[in-house]
Amino acid sequence: MKALALLSGGLDSILAARLVADQGIEVVGVSFVSPFFDAASAQRAADEAGIELVVIDLSEDILELLRGPKHGFGRHVNPCIDCHALMVRRAAERMQELGASFVVTGEVVGQRPKSQMRFGLEVVERESRLKGYLLRPLSARLLSPTVPEESGWVDREKLLGLHGRTRKPQMELASELGVTHYASPAGGCLLTDENYSRGIRDLIDHDSLSVADVRLLSVGRQFRLSERAKLVVGRNHGENETLFGLAPPGSKLVKTVDRKGPVAVLAGEPNDEDLELAAGVVARYADTSKDEVVRVHVWTEDGSSTECNVTPLRPRSVRELAI
Ligand code: SF4
Repeated sequence: MKALALLSGGLDSILAARLVADQGIEVVGVSFVSPFFDAASAQRAADEAGIELVVIDLSEDILELLRGPKHGFGRHVNPCIDCHALMVRRAAERMQELGASFVVTGEVVGQRPKSQMRFGLEVVERESRLKGYLLRPLSARLLSPTVPEESGWVDREKLLGLHGRTRKPQMELASELGVTHYASPAGGCLLTDENYSRGIRDLIDHDSLSVADVRLLSVGRQFRLSERAKLVVGRNHGENETLFGLAPPGSKLVKTVDRKGPVAVLAGEPNDEDLELAAGVVARYADTSKDEVVRVHVWTEDGSSTECNVTPLRPRSVRELAI
């Protein structure tokens, strides 16, 4: 008998996998990557537990969710109910290929707002199209028996009835099972970060939610110049170098010509006004005095190039453009 266990790297998912593995069931871990989270913690947890880990790229699926999650967002731009359902669905799609009979998650009744209330758990089960084959070992005794329990594949008596937000029973179980590597709950997901969420909302509002645009959010100062154009300005040498690699296809690069200053990426479809504004912002962060006229170079990867003269934008105007 084999099961797929969703592994986030957090304690609950590891304990859930262990409760099933300790009943003699072969467990294969499943984790996900996207621009908002990676599988590093899950890999560490899988290594410690000695289980194989399959990693699935969820990038495009998550972007689609962010454009209009059926069950809304959490506190920031985290569409957790839809995201959980999507992850379980993607795992379920691999069941046959991986020879597994059911899916295991670390969800706990009432632990988190919305996604792990009973309603959220029911939605996840229904929308993952895995009715009866989704086992939550940490709260199983509070939920209706699943097919793995009814069929005797898993002993329900050895599963738990945890609920609520307390972490104490999980910590005790972790020490009992010798689990030492785990991440904090949702700690690795950028969609739960308040500042990062502002950047995502800006991309949603301007209909430019792509993997390339999202990757640009992870670096530099972010500015919305107009409905058409966005500017990202490097804050140090490392970010300047990174920006060269992150510039989306067709975007422009901006830099002062004979003054030390940052590299910036101008994304979208900027017009002349946006270009001038971008040059003014870049000049503001360059090594210049406030009314000095500065020469700024604007170019694209495919070789088009232009230069213009600007005075640095006033700090207040720059602040008004910040996202
Ligand atoms: S915290 Fe992030 S990764 Fe986890 S379910 Fe919510 S949106 Fe998905």
